[in-house]
Amino acid sequence: MNLKCESTDTVYPKGINKIKGEKMQKDIQKFSLIKRGMLTLSIACTSLILLSTTPVQAKGPLTTEAKAEVSATNALTEERINAVLKEAYEKFKDNQDGKNADYIKALEVVDSKIFGITLMTPDGKVYEIGDTNEVVSIQSISKVFTAAKVIQEKGETFLQEKIGVNATGLAFNSIIALEQHGGSASNPFVNAGAIQSTSWVEAKDSKERWAKISGYMDDFAGKKLGFNDVVYDSEVNDNKRNQAISKILDAYGRMGSDPLEATTVYTKQCSVNISSHDLAVMGATFANDGVNPVTGKKVLDKKYVPKILAVMATAGLYDNAGDWLYLTGTPAKSGVGGGILAIVPGKMGIGVVSPPLDKFGNSVRGQQAAAYIIEKLGINPLAQ
Ligand code: GLN
Repeated sequence: MNLKCESTDTVYPKGINKIKGEKMQKDIQKFSLIKRGMLTLSIACTSLILLSTTPVQAKGPLTTEAKAEVSATNALTEERINAVLKEAYEKFKDNQDGKNADYIKALEVVDSKIFGITLMTPDGKVYEIGDTNEVVSIQSISKVFTAAKVIQEKGETFLQEKIGVNATGLAFNSIIALEQHGGSASNPFVNAGAIQSTSWVEAKDSKERWAKISGYMDDFAGKKLGFNDVVYDSEVNDNKRNQAISKILDAYGRMGSDPLEATTVYTKQCSVNISSHDLAVMGATFANDGVNPVTGKKVLDKKYVPKILAVMATAGLYDNAGDWLYLTGTPAKSGVGGGILAIVPGKMGIGVVSPPLDKFGNSVRGQQAAAYIIEKLGINPLAQ
């Protein structure tokens, strides 16, 4: 359904401008008749829009009443959110574009049909559809939470100066990017920056580092997340490139702990299982100023929330982050397991799971569904 009601207000000023001379009185009468007709038409249009899920775009100056009508129509009511969610699911569920990651053997065999979408608002309300309890490995989405742990422990200057907060414009496991920037990882969401973040979490040994990082993800999810042994066993044997990256970082003096130890913990954090439901809770914790809406636990200082979201906006979808921001205006983070997390600050966390990926390593249906929902609900943060 794609109903469009043109606002009458664009006609009004143009009409007025044409009224001149003696004809003025007559025209004003005629005009007020037209205006009354248009008002009736406008009310009819607004009622129709109430049945539609397309956000109403106000064109030109509106009367106070008209403004109230438009904002009532655009309100995030349960009905409207559910309708858009269902539309997104129906629209993309049969899309088979993209393919599972295969450079980690265990990811290749994950069921490509899994498709779950969950939204959670800061008051903890859940809207979901599809395979919302099916889990995949979190992969790179884990990088968000380790970066959050580092900023929480060491502050924003440390994150910016030691790891970086700029996009690389190159693939997430690029070694060239590392060399090009004099050994700087550029940001915590490419593999180099993520392994670095893991190494900087304060811990006396590997066991404590893992306990802190996994515990922190659990706090965001509001539950104990499961661990995917199959993915871990597979990746720990396939992660030679990450080991090389950690060694290069170490050569530049940028690691906080032993490089191979940090790489192993990083590989573990990537093997945590998440569903679209879990992702939405984790996202809603960001949307709710760092407080988990389900448990009420304060997980991240409010002042750091916009910092982590800023890096997600610049580098969350890697070398495609610019296109994503252009399309949706939202901070987001993807993982090669097929998960994607988008955050609409103050409004909701959106979690989607669908394993087939595009060439950048981002879930195809995940991006489509999240972008559709953001557009249809009119919640692009840059358009408010
Ligand atoms: N564990 C994966 C890796 O290190 C994570 C990559 C990703 O999700 N983009 O390659």
